[in-house]
Amino acid sequence: VTRIGILTSGGDAPGMNACIRAVVRASIYNGLKVTGIMRGYAGLLAGEFIPLDVGSVGDIIHRGGTILRTARSMEFMEKANQDKAATILGQAGIEGLIVVGGDGSFRGAMTFIERGIPVICIPGTIDRDIPGTEYTIGFDTAVNTVLDAINKIRDTATSHDRTNVIEVMGRSSGHIALQAGLAGGAESILVPEVPFDLDKVCLRLLRGHDRGKLHSIILVAEGVGSAVKIGENIEARTGLETRVTILGHIQRGGSPTALDRLWASRMGAQAVALLLQKKGAVMLAVEKGELVEKDLVEALQSKNELDMGLYQLSGVLSI
Ligand code: ATP
Repeated sequence: VTRIGILTSGGDAPGMNACIRAVVRASIYNGLKVTGIMRGYAGLLAGEFIPLDVGSVGDIIHRGGTILRTARSMEFMEKANQDKAATILGQAGIEGLIVVGGDGSFRGAMTFIERGIPVICIPGTIDRDIPGTEYTIGFDTAVNTVLDAINKIRDTATSHDRTNVIEVMGRSSGHIALQAGLAGGAESILVPEVPFDLDKVCLRLLRGHDRGKLHSIILVAEGVGSAVKIGENIEARTGLETRVTILGHIQRGGSPTALDRLWASRMGAQAVALLLQKKGAVMLAVEKGELVEKDLVEALQSKNELDMGLYQLSGVLSI
């Protein structure tokens, strides 16, 4: 292998830049050349390539987003364009590819593997909804952003004796809601993986109110349903003044935490090492706190599961 390519695809996540930096520096350290592919598969099809040298990734380790930008490409879903994309990579002399993104992007990566181009996939998405790994780049930063918001909302909630419903990202997975909710001391955490009973949520609220609690925080993952409706229902059923905050895209931005930078750097360097070992069809993952490599096909077939022990703990701690 003499030249590799790197792209970021799907939703952006803080720490992607730290990963790009690690890929570039580890490659150059090992005598490889690196091509940056702009805007994911959309940029690949348009031939938007930039050479990446040591200096090109300077001063980005602390920045959110991705310098390579990212995109979702409907065009790339067509087989003819997948053939074209593989040809374009070949013409650019790219012998191995590193894809940083979500499971959709990894399905896209499979199309290159099927055409004989080795790909190493690195999980990068804030909501941790990728099967086969207990960590994704950007997740820790997002959890900390939500936690910061909870702390702020808590101040005003206490002053006004209000119930606050906070909606966080997570269409199909409640990891952000669960971890930020537990760390932020939320009363109830509503996640898509576990059906919820609004009567129980309200009972718990009233119980807390009766013993003199001045604030209540309810965390709702977006996949559960409309936080606005949930807030209205809670107010109607309990008579407690309720406010709803939808955190939205602030969860996607910000300077990555130390944890995200460390994992992003380790994963980036490891992806290069694997390409040097002539490996492909691998997804890097964190399992039991260790960096591991997984067969991409198997990883994509596994299920992303919520940590039920943690979920139960959140119930115990908010009685
Ligand atoms: P996130 O979870 O952060 O949104 P993602 O990688 O899952 O990230 P997607 O929008 O699902 O985001 O996928 C990114 C791109 O990957 C798509 O726009 C498409 O170009 C490509 N892609 C997704 N699924 C497939 C597939 N089954 N086959 C080929 N390409 C795919």
